[in-house]
Amino acid sequence: MEKNIRVRFAPSPTGGLHLGGVRTALFNYLFAKQHNGTFILRVEDTDQNRFVPGAEEYIVDCLDWCGITPDESPQKPGAYGPYRQSERKSTYKPFADQLVADGYAYYAFDTPEELAAKREELPNFLYGQQTRMSMRNSLTLPAEEVASLLASQTPHVVRIKMPENEQVTFTDMIRGQVSFDTNLVDDKVLLKADGMPTYHLAVVVDDKAMEISHVFRGEEWLPSAPIHLLLWKYLGWESLMPQWAHLPLILKPDGHGKLSKRDGDRLGFPVYAMTWTDPKTGAVTEGFKERGFLSQAFVNMLALLGWNDGSGKEIFLLPELVAAFSVDRISKAGAKFDFEKAKWFNHEWIKLTDTDLLRTEILNAFDDLALKNVTTQYLDQVIDLVKERLNGITDFRKEASFFFDDPEIVEADSVRPKWTPEKAAFFEAFAAQLNNSDPAQQWEEQFKAMAETKGLKPGEVMLPFRIMLVGGKFGPGVFDIAKLLGADTTQQRINKGIIAFS
Ligand code: GLU
Repeated sequence: MEKNIRVRFAPSPTGGLHLGGVRTALFNYLFAKQHNGTFILRVEDTDQNRFVPGAEEYIVDCLDWCGITPDESPQKPGAYGPYRQSERKSTYKPFADQLVADGYAYYAFDTPEELAAKREELPNFLYGQQTRMSMRNSLTLPAEEVASLLASQTPHVVRIKMPENEQVTFTDMIRGQVSFDTNLVDDKVLLKADGMPTYHLAVVVDDKAMEISHVFRGEEWLPSAPIHLLLWKYLGWESLMPQWAHLPLILKPDGHGKLSKRDGDRLGFPVYAMTWTDPKTGAVTEGFKERGFLSQAFVNMLALLGWNDGSGKEIFLLPELVAAFSVDRISKAGAKFDFEKAKWFNHEWIKLTDTDLLRTEILNAFDDLALKNVTTQYLDQVIDLVKERLNGITDFRKEASFFFDDPEIVEADSVRPKWTPEKAAFFEAFAAQLNNSDPAQQWEEQFKAMAETKGLKPGEVMLPFRIMLVGGKFGPGVFDIAKLLGADTTQQRINKGIIAFS
């Protein structure tokens, strides 16, 4: 029988959630759901120096917003808890001791000063095969001294003893066979002086304890894979090891290197899923959500960063992604991030999304527009008129605020030079006969007919009319706007416009 599919997203809660992290979570989620498996959130918080208050809750909120909610997590514990590594602290040390007892790891007593001095002496110093025998550790010190140092609780770490001249090889689900030369890997710390495991030990112990079957993680973790593989082997768990899939990097728009938060700041686009406020500095970094992205669009865009279904199809609902996802179609090459394409996804999604849902998003996003003073029916009509024009929910302000507040006439200058008393007279007459019960079509016909009787080309009065109603040269069909504003408001804006243009 195939073993149960259990996958995990294992972020360190240290700050904003990078879109690459969300994509990792998403691919784990898609794989789990496709196989009726379990998607787990495990919080990797063993580095106490990097603890950031609020970061875990923020990650949970981001996953929630994206609709990729974990089946097991600190908030929703299953049978494999706790789901925070800091709460599992006592489980790691016995494995570190076992590795030492079996000769796969050793205690190292070098003080920070001694290590600093070594680094001073050898600028490329790595604690490993070349150097370990000149350091203060259980490989070099007499057994009695080691025993007494341990008995007196002398601060020490546990390091893995990387074997000499071995190839560590495994089959990555995306990359195929991958090999590492153990001579090139240093003796990483497994257990720190404070008794906390490092990432390397914790990830292996926890993946085993949580019966993780497959690991999808970013390519940046590939260099750590040989350490993890050896630990699985040294702990005697080789047959239980998960299958690995190292996801392609998400690259800067120019393809040169990994996309960082700084690239977003520099180029003016978000990199985090949701806005992150650094609790220390108060610095606020805008997220995709607050930039006006629908979560469905964000998730859809992420799915296509390094994966496609081979048919050219681009718009996918989450359940469609679950059905279509396949590891075979994940590319090995890095995926360039393209913000214009991200906006295209959002635009397509806004067009696809029901007015009901858009209304909720819009009401949540704008508390300063006079949205609450209008009826739902009116708001929905506005949404239907402008949704084609929105690249993001935030564009609603620019595209629709004139439906709620009188606009400032910012483009009066483009009308004024050609403004004439005849035009003013035409608008007065047109305004006077507007009747709410006439359909928009009729307003348009009247407008054209009246213009002609006054010797004006409809084209000459159309732009002034638009500017009167919306303040500038934009917006949906001008008669649709007028009709929705109603005869009274349209009349008032025409009168204001006549004054502004004269
Ligand atoms: N804690 C690691 C991170 O922050 C997890 C890496 C892994 O999935 O093994 O991404």
